[in-house]
Amino acid sequence: MFQETMATKLNFPVIIFFYLIYLTCVLNANPVKMEEMKKEMDYFMNYGYLDEKGMEKYEQMKESKDMMKEPMIMESHKKAVMVFQKMNRMAMTGEMNDKMHKMMEAPRCGNPDMRMGEPLKPKRAKRFAVLCNDNKEYAKVPKRHITYSILNESKSMDSDTVEREIRRAFAFWIKKTNFTFSQVQNDGYFRISFETGVHSNEKESSGFDGEGMRLAHAFDFHGRSPEGYQAIHFDDDEDWVVQNDGINLLQVATHEIGHALGLAHESFIYDAVMTPLYRYRPFFGLFEDDVKGVRKVYDGGDEDAKNCFRNVTQIMSDMNITMKES
Ligand SMILES: [Zn+2]
Ligand SMILES: [Zn+2]
Repeated sequence: MFQETMATKLNFPVIIFFYLIYLTCVLNANPVKMEEMKKEMDYFMNYGYLDEKGMEKYEQMKESKDMMKEPMIMESHKKAVMVFQKMNRMAMTGEMNDKMHKMMEAPRCGNPDMRMGEPLKPKRAKRFAVLCNDNKEYAKVPKRHITYSILNESKSMDSDTVEREIRRAFAFWIKKTNFTFSQVQNDGYFRISFETGVHSNEKESSGFDGEGMRLAHAFDFHGRSPEGYQAIHFDDDEDWVVQNDGINLLQVATHEIGHALGLAHESFIYDAVMTPLYRYRPFFGLFEDDVKGVRKVYDGGDEDAKNCFRNVTQIMSDMNITMKES
């Protein structure tokens, strides 16, 4: 009897202690995991890794505490992770890892890595119309001589330097393609501007995000009608520089001009100018892949354009990815 009472007395605080730890785990682990999951899903959604159904489900359940119990969301996440891993020549575990988290936080272009969903919904058309137009053809610029305008000033770089660096960026493309470019006052076919946050009636998810992460994007602003134009936006919360002590304007501009000409992203691992992640390169120029991309868009014929409308499921089958039963 005495022993029993002692045991109860001794165990009571211990039980309470473990119960509190248990409660802490149950109450805290899930929100942390949920936040992480949301960050990953936002990334996958913004950069084209989710299929239409997964995207809709995620948008519906984003704020629900049961989000991670929804099989369609978990499967979309796993598929996206696998495609991301395959594209970047990593082991296809379907599970996130530290390297991927780091890649996802690196400064990058705001354009999607893949064009998802079929058919296109008008509200998303402008974000995905970089590679192909709505007629399932390559999104070609309808002329070889292209005018461009620089519409405003940057907070971090004087206008003369901006003009010079943009001119140098066009020069890379002039050297390797049949295009020529000239600057005009306001209504050029390519319209370059410095913007901050959510801007120009764009969706919140494609807006800029302060310093770091999303640096720039380029897209067909008004559809590819004769009076349409290409917008090239730079995030003016970045510190734009000519060297490596901020974000190098010349290198980012060269990439965005590639989009405006109709090119999409290459895999992260390659050195091509059209890879989505930014890294400063001391010896900078177009790679063979970039030039090949332009030739394919302009000289390859539109039968290749069937690739324009791949969704994540088709990409998985092209890449020979099968989802293992888990
Ligand atoms: Zn890009
Ligand atoms: Zn923009």
